[in-house]
Amino acid sequence: MTTEPVLSLRDAGRSYGTGATRVVALDAVDLDVYAGELVAVTGRSGSGKSTLLNLAGGLDRPTTGRVLVEGQDLSALGKAELAAVRRRSVGFVFQELNLLPTLTAAENVSLPMELDRVSTVEARRAADTAIAEVGLAGMEDRYPDELSGGERQRVAIARALVGPRRLLLADEPTGALDELTGEAVMRVMRNRCDAGAAGVLVTHEPALAAWADRVVRLRDGRIESVTARNPAAAELSEVVR
Ligand code: ADP
Ligand code: MG
Repeated sequence: MTTEPVLSLRDAGRSYGTGATRVVALDAVDLDVYAGELVAVTGRSGSGKSTLLNLAGGLDRPTTGRVLVEGQDLSALGKAELAAVRRRSVGFVFQELNLLPTLTAAENVSLPMELDRVSTVEARRAADTAIAEVGLAGMEDRYPDELSGGERQRVAIARALVGPRRLLLADEPTGALDELTGEAVMRVMRNRCDAGAAGVLVTHEPALAAWADRVVRLRDGRIESVTARNPAAAELSEVVR
């Protein structure tokens, strides 16, 4: 385990609007997620889960506090640098996952790496690995319209998680997925975290939270509780609290 967390929220807050209509979506949250850890974030609708995840991935900026990814303060980065961090270090899994119809499964998965000037051969190798991880070995050269809905979603998941990404973020990833696909997402996230990535998973479902090392419960934008699910994670959660 490295001593530096992959993701740190320091007093991170996000509010919308001003005056009487001001909404505090996230209120001074401190959270560290280390390499090897998968953290589940739960809480009622409107408790700030998506806000937390969007800050973590640099899709949104905090109005107070700081967000650090691999020690880099995201607010110190310019637009292009932030985009590069998102492409290289962060993998997002959203409910809406779209593939490009004119590219094969492997080409879709390779795309983010090729945009980052990874060689075609290397990108293809990583894409094949990611496609195998989601259980679709042999389907690399199919086009999206030659795949079932669930298979397309799995290719999109492979694309979101391909390459050496250190931070994996998923917002209710199984919402629109069938059970088999949902389990494939969780297995891939768990494997990646076991291999040294850090993961944050927003979920309503207790069955999914069971894959996590820690469960962080949000309420009205604040951390209400942190539950460790194994002894190693328990030590960590003591450190971060
Ligand atoms: P969750 O994902 O837990 O359902 P969100 O993080 O999406 O919660 O939202 C937290 C709070 O912030 C909610 O009260 C929501 O209405 C509010 N909120 C989220 N996005 C915006 C926005 N763009 N403008 C105003 N309020 C917002
Ligand atoms: Mg949400």
